[in-house]
Amino acid sequence: MRKILIIDDNTTNLFSLRKILERLELEVVTALSGFEGLELAEKNQFSLVLLDIQMPEMDGFETLERLRKSPKNLHIPVILVSAIFTEDQYKLKGMQTGAVDFIPKPVNPDILRAKVKVFLDLEEHKESLKNLVAELEVNNALLKKEIKKRTKVEAELRVAKAHAEKMNELKSQLLVNMSHEIRTPVNSILGFADLIINAKIAPAEKEKYVRYVSNSSQNLLFLIDEILDHSRMEAGEFKINQAPCDLSEILQELQESFERIKMQMGKEAIALSLIKPKKNIGAETDPQRLRQVLVNLLSNAFKYTKSGSVSFGFTQEGEFLRFFVKDTGIGISEEEASRVFTRFKRVETQDSLQSSGTGLGLSIAERIVYLLGGTIGLNSKLGEGTEFYFTIPFKEIDLTNFQAIDYNAETLDDPDWSKFVLLIAEDEEMNFLFLQEALRASKIQIIWAKNGEEAIKLALDHSPDLILMDVKMPDMNGFQAIEQIRLKNPGLNIIIQTAFAKSDEELKLAEKIYDDLITKPINRNTLIKTMSKFLY
Ligand code: ADP
Repeated sequence: MRKILIIDDNTTNLFSLRKILERLELEVVTALSGFEGLELAEKNQFSLVLLDIQMPEMDGFETLERLRKSPKNLHIPVILVSAIFTEDQYKLKGMQTGAVDFIPKPVNPDILRAKVKVFLDLEEHKESLKNLVAELEVNNALLKKEIKKRTKVEAELRVAKAHAEKMNELKSQLLVNMSHEIRTPVNSILGFADLIINAKIAPAEKEKYVRYVSNSSQNLLFLIDEILDHSRMEAGEFKINQAPCDLSEILQELQESFERIKMQMGKEAIALSLIKPKKNIGAETDPQRLRQVLVNLLSNAFKYTKSGSVSFGFTQEGEFLRFFVKDTGIGISEEEASRVFTRFKRVETQDSLQSSGTGLGLSIAERIVYLLGGTIGLNSKLGEGTEFYFTIPFKEIDLTNFQAIDYNAETLDDPDWSKFVLLIAEDEEMNFLFLQEALRASKIQIIWAKNGEEAIKLALDHSPDLILMDVKMPDMNGFQAIEQIRLKNPGLNIIIQTAFAKSDEELKLAEKIYDDLITKPINRNTLIKTMSKFLY
């Protein structure tokens, strides 16, 4: 209920004003002096004040002035009431002091009620306007917050978009690179193969061309492995297989192979040296992956060096081993150094772009080192050379009874397998012809099954001493064929040959049904070694 305050020193006046206003729905509070009125106004929330001007001690003007001093009452509408001060000058004074209206006495009840009602309504509208403003302010604040949030999201989206565009650009660049990278070895394979077919060529030349074809094929394979490793990493399927190994021996082998590789790269003038601890050191790590990282760094060192030397090796640093590959090549600027580990990233200078590459090698190396538990980095000076280094945790092993795998074995002598029968299940004629050629000197009898159905039939009809089973064949895969064969003749020896290294789980499942496995491209030495396990 709205409250109204009437201040008048005359009780009769107070009584009659109260009576007049009773018909409006109001709570009427009265005060007999300015002092009492100010006190009440301080304690209550009034919607309107009716104020008599002529009062002893403090008149209406002074009361009004004091009322306005309190911030709480700054805007209460006040109507002055007077019988004497009816002249315009007093009305003006009243208005200047902050009164909203003036009513002469004797008061006309209808006019008083109408005026009071108007001011009360106005007050009410003012109040709802105030609420509306407050509500608007809250909404405004919310809106501002929302805008801030959206601006942030937009900025993030812009960054993500720029990143996606950059990656897209790098990928397109990669495709262009890749087709160039693939074309180069394929062109030389086709070109030299064509020359080899030419009967007029001298045998010495022919041998040289065969070596070129073989080198180009190796390059192509390296490229394909790089792309496969990259997609395995993207899919989270890249695995590390810890095994004991002789580190000194691995580095020794690398030195020997890079002495050969540098010739193929036309970099014979660059000296290669290996720096390693005097005594052989055995460690538990993934030797294949360790070798892969070093091969990568060494290839880059030769690729990006025109003259001078390349040195590599390792030292023990507390619980870690620190490997390094150092060159006197074109170097990498400080700005580019932080970016060379980004996939598809290649430094765009005249010098570096003269060499071929996909920009994947270092990103793969970084990931492998991370998976091995270490870190990779580089020190470089533009025009002077680069040192790439990486660490791996050092888990030492005793080398006394350690038997290393011989990766650089000399060509094996041909065995005599004339009394054995081999079934080769292979749908690709070229692959079959390769196996046939690789085994020709062993005089083994070969039966060829061109698909899974034929493999089952020939295996059961001939009971061969060994089966070489291709996994991927059009009608039925090798695993299914093996299952059928095992049902009827469980004792047959079966080696599977696969082009793609299957996931560990899949191979574990299949392990129960095959006796051994070789991965394509098949190397003659591996083929003979693996087959020897079954033919004696
Ligand atoms: P790429 O296939 O291009 O060699 P990498 O990921 O192995 O890809 O290397 C990324 C880039 O880092 C290279 O393109 C080259 O610009 C730069 N780089 C790598 N190694 C060296 C080095 N030893 N000296 C100078 N630049 C190098």
